[in-house]
Amino acid sequence: MLDLATSVQFVKGVGPRVSEVLAAKGINTVDDLLHYLPFRYEDRLNPRGIAELRPGEMATVIAEVRTSGLFRTRRMPIFQMTAGQGRARLKCMWFNGAYLKDRFKPGQMVALYGKVDVDRKGEMQIVQPQFEILGEATEEGSTDTTEQKLANSLEVGRIVPIYESAGQGKLTSRWFRRIIRATLDNLVPEIPDPIPGSVRNRVGLIAPRQALAEVHWPDPGESLQNLQSSRTPAHLRLIFEELFFLELGLELKRRQQKAHTGISFRLNDAVRAAIKKILPFHPTAAQKRVLKEIASDMEKPFPMRRLLQGDVGSGKTIVAFEAAIIAIENGYQVALMAPTEILAQQHYFSARRILEPTGYRIVLLTGSLEQDRKREIRRHIAQGNAHLVIGTHALIEEKVEFAKLGVVIVDEQHRFGVMQRFKLMKKSAEGTEETVSGDLRPWSPDSIPGNGQPTTALAAPASNYPQKVEAPEPDVLVMTATPIPRTLALTLYGDLDISMLDEMPPGRTPIVTRRVPDERSPEVWDFVRKQLVAGHQAYIVYPVIEESEENELKAAIKMFRLLRERVFQSHHVGLLHGRLDPAEKDRVMAEFQKREIDVLVSTTVIEVGVDVPNATVMVVEHAERFGLAQLHQLRGRIGRGAAKSYCILMTGGKVSEEGERRLDAMVRTNDGFQIAELDLELRGPGEFFGTRQAGIPSFRVANLIRDRDILELAKREAAAVVAGPTQETSQEEITRALRYMRQRWRNTYGLVEVG
Ligand code: ADP
Ligand code: MG
Repeated sequence: MLDLATSVQFVKGVGPRVSEVLAAKGINTVDDLLHYLPFRYEDRLNPRGIAELRPGEMATVIAEVRTSGLFRTRRMPIFQMTAGQGRARLKCMWFNGAYLKDRFKPGQMVALYGKVDVDRKGEMQIVQPQFEILGEATEEGSTDTTEQKLANSLEVGRIVPIYESAGQGKLTSRWFRRIIRATLDNLVPEIPDPIPGSVRNRVGLIAPRQALAEVHWPDPGESLQNLQSSRTPAHLRLIFEELFFLELGLELKRRQQKAHTGISFRLNDAVRAAIKKILPFHPTAAQKRVLKEIASDMEKPFPMRRLLQGDVGSGKTIVAFEAAIIAIENGYQVALMAPTEILAQQHYFSARRILEPTGYRIVLLTGSLEQDRKREIRRHIAQGNAHLVIGTHALIEEKVEFAKLGVVIVDEQHRFGVMQRFKLMKKSAEGTEETVSGDLRPWSPDSIPGNGQPTTALAAPASNYPQKVEAPEPDVLVMTATPIPRTLALTLYGDLDISMLDEMPPGRTPIVTRRVPDERSPEVWDFVRKQLVAGHQAYIVYPVIEESEENELKAAIKMFRLLRERVFQSHHVGLLHGRLDPAEKDRVMAEFQKREIDVLVSTTVIEVGVDVPNATVMVVEHAERFGLAQLHQLRGRIGRGAAKSYCILMTGGKVSEEGERRLDAMVRTNDGFQIAELDLELRGPGEFFGTRQAGIPSFRVANLIRDRDILELAKREAAAVVAGPTQETSQEEITRALRYMRQRWRNTYGLVEVG
């Protein structure tokens, strides 16, 4: 008898060599093997008669091999095979099919699958069909008739599962069929269900054993359409289970974070007055709502773990600063971490500008500072003299000690996934462990060092009864600049509460986006010139994605010279790229901001953070080379003022099909969420975040794009379970589910501890 935990090596037909191939596919146990699902099913219960085939349909045909042969044409060898049913014939051909030369023998039964069409003579054919040889007509020593073989075959007379082959085709679909069938035949009869009965009933889940059997060998009555779209009861059960235990871990994590001691920030009049002082405009309804969510988290005695999502330009910065004000007015320090140095600098400039009326001490901690200066800044931070510390992730995480850290704002830009964040938070939790003296009373407004006062909290005398207390954990606000499709947010950020800034500040006219081929660049430059004459500014962006790409950078610099000397002679043209030293970059940016530069020629370094409302045109050269999210981010630099803005996507040369879809999407919509959804579809979750290390959990059976609905369901049910026992769900069931979840997380996600 095989158990789910049994190593796949002990399955009959799997030796050490084969198990190595399987391991490369992530198949180590019987459980893994049974979760290797067919990617497609063929209806060989009701295969189509050749006579009834219609051009254009996808069909499975079972027929007998009649003739076959290789034809050489001038361009390539074509292999042809004719299969027949009685008098009906079906032609099949494979381009470059020399490898098929000795495959077929007259009299064999074959299953063929593919798209039906008609050849020039009007005969039915399938080009490049997938095929499987069902019965050898004359095997040595065999006295079985073909009919007998077919009768007890796994390959016909039923709905047949089709698997992806493995080991460079050595382990075929047919091989998997047999091995999985044998495994199911020898599997223990009862598999305990780790999902609580109440959840099972509400969702309508079938038992695990039955699901595993039916997903591979569907009942003859099962709908082929449901099978192909992974929506049979068996699929639902397996997909739900996988997502449920992911969400259960995330929900538990969320709960546990709330069980920790946090800081109860107070929202008194001083805080309100400080916030009012900095607001240069009326906040949008969305900004108000989001700030309320954040403030209410901050008031609570447990740590905030919140994600602030909002499209470029939706006004996240001011919300983040408002959160910072709450903390600082309560006598705490704030850390703002950015993914890159240039972005950290941008935040620093905005903070200086926006927070000026408050008199807070704001410091910028970047890698390019001199050692002495860094040390000095660190000392200020440790002594509590700095209220708002802005820097890159790496720098702040490294070895900075805060006197009294209240809020961490992480400007994430998608560099972290959920798994990385767990590790990170664990680390920062370790870092904050300290013996707390009894005195955590808030600063009074006049103790704010901006007014020249030392921080009372730091100067507080040691408690008379020192004791080890759990240090309150700082609040964490994670900001993402690119909208994330909800399904991804639920998995990547499932441990966080989510706030959405889904409304743009008023007075924006939608950006007009056009696609223009390279040849028409003179018209484009004319158009840009008109905007400049009208008093606006422009960006011209070149695809130097990595600043290390020497040739691309050279091309951009060359274009800069050309534009300056030949195209925009009567305007000021500036150049910005990642190889400039930081001071130079800042200077260029500042000049652009002050309108001393009219046209900014740039690489993608302007992608983030830059805010110049007077810039109304962006020309992106070789737009086909950019990713969709990146184009959207770039475009977010314009359309920030009252005047109408234009984004011109220039393309040179041939554009791939996927490139076309990206450009289409850009022209069609300004909605970041729509763009994100499409981007996810085009690239898949793994690539969506640009790196393989994105920390997106990998799934055996679930698919984030296809299974959004099931994910939502799983999340709801997981939350219900974590909430505790009810009449329908006993404590034992919950304990069992959590134990199973932990084991599963350990197996799937390695080191990450949950619970
Ligand atoms: P992002 O979400 O991309 O960080 P910003 O915070 O940079 O967006 O805001 C974009 C622009 O909109 C800035 O110029 C900012 O000053 C402005 N802005 C933000 N909120 C409002 C508002 N409620 N009314 C008017 N302008 C606003
Ligand atoms: Mg709090």
